[in-house]
Amino acid sequence: MQQQSGTLFTISAPSGAGKTSLVRALVDAEPCLQVSVSHTTRPIRPGETDGVNYNFCDRSAFESMLNEGAFLEYAEVFGNLYGTSQKFVEDQLASDADVMLEIDWQGARQVKRLLPATCSIFVLPPSEKALRDRLSQRGQDDMDTIERRMAAAVSEMSHYVEADYLVINDVFDEALLELQAIVRSQRLQTEKQAHRHSAQLKALLE
Ligand code: 5GP
Repeated sequence: MQQQSGTLFTISAPSGAGKTSLVRALVDAEPCLQVSVSHTTRPIRPGETDGVNYNFCDRSAFESMLNEGAFLEYAEVFGNLYGTSQKFVEDQLASDADVMLEIDWQGARQVKRLLPATCSIFVLPPSEKALRDRLSQRGQDDMDTIERRMAAAVSEMSHYVEADYLVINDVFDEALLELQAIVRSQRLQTEKQAHRHSAQLKALLE
């Protein structure tokens, strides 16, 4: 897979860290950024739309896609399968767009191994209490699920050390600015700028 002037990003976080809201605001602020819509076998939640939040499918459809090599990476999270479309990422990078993958640490690790130029970001909550409060407030999970997510969070969070960048989502607007700074710093790398502005640079240096 060829990375041109675009950057492939992964963003990982325990559920409740605010990653999805941050990514939504980041895309509004940085329109060059495309977010990949994953495939999942998880049941659709109230408020979600098929094809927008995820491409929802059953396990056998997911496994067929897996056997056909349709996924750049995939992982099982809380008993459900999640995977990133290889074709979507390939097409976006070929058109020089920046691509964001909202995936768990297992997927981020696979992508980094396959494409070492990937920029990986980890988002952490400021405290255990903040994480528990956010999980309760979003009203998507019952108490059992929240307790399961809290129990898994500590081991998930320990993988922050594998990421290139760490953002603590305490004050939302500050965390958003930090994500924008990361995206822009990657975009401004000399090699990518030279590719993006090749004609302009050629004219300038003639
Ligand atoms: P949720 O079901 O709460 O939306 O997501 C559960 C976890 O799966 C989150 O950590 C989310 O980032 C992760 N996830 C979502 N899509 C993918 C994917 O395509 N690949 C991997 N590896 N993880 C994903």
